[in-house]
Amino acid sequence: MAHVKLHIPGPVEVSEKTFKAFCSPMIGHRGQGFKDLYAKIQPQLQQLLYTKQLVYLSTSSAWGVMEGAVRNLAQKKVLNCMCGAFSDKWFDVSKKCGTQAEALQVPWGSPIRAEQIDAKLATGEFDALTVIHNETSTGVMSPIAEIAALKKKYPDVMFIVDAVSSMSAVKLDFDALGLDVLLAGTQKAFALPPGTAVFVCSPAALAKAATAKDRGYYFDFVEFQKNAEQNMTPSTPSIGHIYALASKLDDIFAEGLEARFVRHAKLAGLTRAWAARHGFTTFPDAGYESVTLTCVNNGAKPGGRAVDVPKLQKLVKDQGFLIDGGYGKIKGTTFRISNMGDETEATMNQLYAALDNAMKQL
Ligand SMILES: *Cc1c(COP(=O)(O)O)cnc(C)c1O
Repeated sequence: MAHVKLHIPGPVEVSEKTFKAFCSPMIGHRGQGFKDLYAKIQPQLQQLLYTKQLVYLSTSSAWGVMEGAVRNLAQKKVLNCMCGAFSDKWFDVSKKCGTQAEALQVPWGSPIRAEQIDAKLATGEFDALTVIHNETSTGVMSPIAEIAALKKKYPDVMFIVDAVSSMSAVKLDFDALGLDVLLAGTQKAFALPPGTAVFVCSPAALAKAATAKDRGYYFDFVEFQKNAEQNMTPSTPSIGHIYALASKLDDIFAEGLEARFVRHAKLAGLTRAWAARHGFTTFPDAGYESVTLTCVNNGAKPGGRAVDVPKLQKLVKDQGFLIDGGYGKIKGTTFRISNMGDETEATMNQLYAALDNAMKQL
């Protein structure tokens, strides 16, 4: 069967080069070969996240580390900042972990703003908060610098940030922002196959995790740190992913971080321009649009055009591209187009041509 190229917001298209690296011959995870591999990528990961902390590799999807963050760091009460399907679900995760949790819900399409968090933290009830930097379901990017600035006012609150669909596409300066946990899965902007998560913890987060009695076994952050100090992971990792990540990090630094960030922002702008050309508006509040994907408004909000989304998807798929038909309660009243990973202006133009073609038949 012919391959349909992925323009859904994860998993995204994986290059031949990455797949070749993924299929490197297997090695033992306690041997020198593995330690050398991790030691090679560790400084690159630190540079990518602008941190002096060790960066950890978890063989799980992002949710594993998201749950782990709650179990390791929320001992009193966690504030779950919710603005879309993924951030909303984090509230359920907290409750299922038996952690006291409160929802800070804003309408889908809106970002989380610092003043809303400030008002909640001022109660003194919370010792942790979760925020999603780039809410993939709505295509909204919340102002992370503005949110992180609150850390100075509330130094004892753990700031846990999901950057699943923005890490490596946007500058996230972990140490300067003063965050406590920053995490991502590899199948989004890294453009690797799904199955591994990358994350980093502040010294304060590690100290707090060490005091958490029920932090669990598989996602024990203290164990991740201990093992990373030896260039190892707590349990047998997906070694293929780590080879693929090594290959991708070489690509990332060959391109240059700044160029990579600019490329993502520019391509998202091109998708918004495509949408505007066809009379669509976009779903996020103006000024908070993601740089890795575009959530097109197709009737979820007043204004703009609306089309038969399943039909649009089929017409585009027949030309070899998969786009997303909207997530959760905005399925069909929005649709989403990803530009994350290895996309270029040339590859995006191929997609827009297919979309243009499809629009003529609607
Ligand atoms: C994809 C995604 C997740 C979930 O990742 P899994 O790999 O399914 O665990 C969480 N948060 C955001 C923002 C995402 O885009």
